[in-house]
Amino acid sequence: MRLPNFKCNTCDGIYSSFDIHFTSNCDNCCSYCIDSINRCHSSTIPDVDKIIDTIKKYQDGFDDVLFLGGEPCLYLEELIDCIKKIKQYTNLKVYVTTSVPYTCSLNREKFIELIELVDGLNISAQHYCEDIADEIRHTTSQFDRQEFYSNLPYKSKIRINLNLLKSYLDTREEIINCLHHYDNMGFGSILLRELQHSPNHFVSYEAVMGIKLPSAYAYGCQTNLTIPGETFSTPILLSRSCSIVENSVNASWSDVFKSFIKIFKASPDNKFGVVWEDGSFTEGW
Ligand code: SF4
Repeated sequence: MRLPNFKCNTCDGIYSSFDIHFTSNCDNCCSYCIDSINRCHSSTIPDVDKIIDTIKKYQDGFDDVLFLGGEPCLYLEELIDCIKKIKQYTNLKVYVTTSVPYTCSLNREKFIELIELVDGLNISAQHYCEDIADEIRHTTSQFDRQEFYSNLPYKSKIRINLNLLKSYLDTREEIINCLHHYDNMGFGSILLRELQHSPNHFVSYEAVMGIKLPSAYAYGCQTNLTIPGETFSTPILLSRSCSIVENSVNASWSDVFKSFIKIFKASPDNKFGVVWEDGSFTEGW
């Protein structure tokens, strides 16, 4: 019997990372968006100086910063300013997650400057067919996203994120088509992701592929993915949901065992914190 790998679950805090909630504003309206709960936060406009003050204050023991939202690239100038200051005052690695709003196309040079600055950029692409991606975003794209993506420089820094989503990306054929489509563009990696906290939209990779994988909770929720019969030149990652973050997933016996072990384990040394757009700091979401 294989023993659980206690260190491979990202929820165990293997990263020491700030999440920066740069804004709640977004030009999309995804039905599964969990950020709508933050839209009543005191401010949705990023205050760069206050964010930097907070990062400088709490940075000891942290390795990374991840900008997300809402949509951080709606404030491209402020985002670049903030990242330059983080690079000036800290040794933190910087990552940005974006759905690539129209501002990125209108200000292409600025967006490329952003990619130059960061250590990694995650593009939430949704689908290879833009009509379907627009349906998921509940918006109408004002530029040719596929052309924009395929002509971006620094592709090795870019990860394409694809959410498994009920009614949109929930069949083996569509998943394989999406993976091949973005594989052909030559990005650094592709992340296939099960949604969390979203029982109405959740799609199980195991169920779609008709396979059984070890429990995401006990064996790790993020793994390198190989698909029998398919060849990709881009590394493909699979991020799965466990019973803690998605209540349509049942806990396995190995989850129960691991939870029991945690009672006797000291808290991990890893640090996590959320820096909000007004500079306030919380230890979790
Ligand atoms: S792109 Fe992200 S922040 Fe914007 S609505 Fe969709 S899930 Fe929410």
